[in-house]
Amino acid sequence: MAKRTKLEWAEMQNRQEKAIEHAAEVLGVLPAASAPIDPLDIVKSEKPLLRAMGADFRDRFDGQLEYHPAKNRFLLFYNTKYDLRALPGEHHPRTRFSMAHELGHYFLASHRAFLRRTGQSHPSKGEFLSDRIIEAEADAFAAGLLMPRDLLGPLVNEGDLTFSQIEEWARTFNTSVTSTARRSIELSDYPCALIGLREGCVGFSFFSRGMIDGGCYPRSRGSDLPAQAKPKWQGFLGGAPMKAEGQAFAREWCQTYENGQAESAPVYEYYFGVPSMQTLLVLLTIPEEELFLNSEND
Ligand SMILES: [Zn+2]
Repeated sequence: MAKRTKLEWAEMQNRQEKAIEHAAEVLGVLPAASAPIDPLDIVKSEKPLLRAMGADFRDRFDGQLEYHPAKNRFLLFYNTKYDLRALPGEHHPRTRFSMAHELGHYFLASHRAFLRRTGQSHPSKGEFLSDRIIEAEADAFAAGLLMPRDLLGPLVNEGDLTFSQIEEWARTFNTSVTSTARRSIELSDYPCALIGLREGCVGFSFFSRGMIDGGCYPRSRGSDLPAQAKPKWQGFLGGAPMKAEGQAFAREWCQTYENGQAESAPVYEYYFGVPSMQTLLVLLTIPEEELFLNSEND
């Protein structure tokens, strides 16, 4: 079981890292990328093969990429329904993420080949909600495109990771708190994780390399919550303003192995409610010395 979890994690991680690398290459075509990245600048650089069109598609999809063989043209549709909540002349972080996600389907070779072969349109919805590997790849591409390592990485590793920092970066990069938190975990040099609680259980997890190296792996999607997290979830459902903190042991949030210290390592929990996504985010951090005996000698 342990072995399977590790292999699965490594496989998913590998595919997502490749998607992120590809996003960095794509960004390289822009003269000088600075935050916030405009995904429509990337669309323009692919003219005339790619065109983008925005409209209020209500609940049909957040984004969709189509291939039209007669004109040899890809059409990227994005739903502007969230833009009502954006500043005038700007797109809402969710709209921007949808654009970037569809760009992932356009740029990632196997996605594009599939679309060309089948002509099949591809409706995409939401952030990180799909299990399908290609959706996870497109999400990784989007996060990498909107929050490049060169720009966000140094900020993340400057100090302790907190939601107030993440909110500030979300404003700078014009990205959602959820996707900024996810990307911060990826870029962190320290043991930390982001867990999204949905429908009363674990909906998604992102673990930093430091967590994995320390023997802490994500629990599978749909896993039960630790006892002390349940009242937090109930409070969130009841509409409580959700910015709480807590403490637990690593074994309560993670599958631990190959490190005797991991199981009983203390975990600091920071909760952040996202009512529009019906998601309660939990940021987990573990002090490095609790996982690695000689971390000061590294
Ligand atoms: Zn998609």
